[in-house]
Amino acid sequence: MLEVDSIDVAYGAVQVIWDVSLSVEKGETVALLGANGAGKTTVLKSICGPLVPTAGDIRFEGESIGGLQQDEVVPKGITHVPEGREIFHESSVHENLTLGAYANRDGMEDRRRRVYEIFPRLEERSGQSAGTLSGGEQQMLAIGRGLMSDPDLVLLDEASLGLAPVLVDDVFDAIERINEEGTTVLLVEQDVHNALRVADRGYVLESGRVSLSGSAEELADDERVAASYLGG
Ligand code: ATP
Repeated sequence: MLEVDSIDVAYGAVQVIWDVSLSVEKGETVALLGANGAGKTTVLKSICGPLVPTAGDIRFEGESIGGLQQDEVVPKGITHVPEGREIFHESSVHENLTLGAYANRDGMEDRRRRVYEIFPRLEERSGQSAGTLSGGEQQMLAIGRGLMSDPDLVLLDEASLGLAPVLVDDVFDAIERINEEGTTVLLVEQDVHNALRVADRGYVLESGRVSLSGSAEELADDERVAASYLGG
């Protein structure tokens, strides 16, 4: 479904991604792992904009999307849920979900119902302004808003960052459910334990290069992953 093929990415003259390749097959959940500053967010922003690789290619369903911006990839079926949530604080939960459907309003109410089924808390708070939601609720809203464009592939950046442990479990359970219901997922995570719990496969980025890849089981059992990311 998604093929990232030997991309280099730079901020101005400073190159931060070197020769990164990864693939995501339809129906999979794939985790992109790595320490702070390894380049995970940069790879996501190369897939859905605003960054453009300086070398290599990115293909979605066989079509090159390497230079496209976010408003151009959403209609193709890719949604990005960015780190830091970026919801509209003054607008209600309901209105934020409506805004998520801007590219595709057909069936919007069915999708809103699906989001409320996945996150019942959002339905309880549908009239509340988003800025007054708790951090966990805001994260649920950011994911829910992403689902409102009916994506085939959702890119999730640090969905669990800064959440209390009980909410982290809720968010990962929701990611599993979203995938089971047919949406393909590429997630960027520092919570390696939970990421490998829900993922089929993963890639580890180190200093802008892929240092390891394999099934979630292989990565969880890898002593380098354990030593660096699982406190082992
Ligand atoms: P984190 O987990 O901390 O979000 P990350 O793996 O997502 O880290 P990136 O945000 O992709 O890492 O950053 C990769 C490198 O690119 C870092 O060295 C970072 O300082 C640099 N970088 C990120 N954004 C910019 C920018 N706008 N201008 C210049 N350098 C940047």
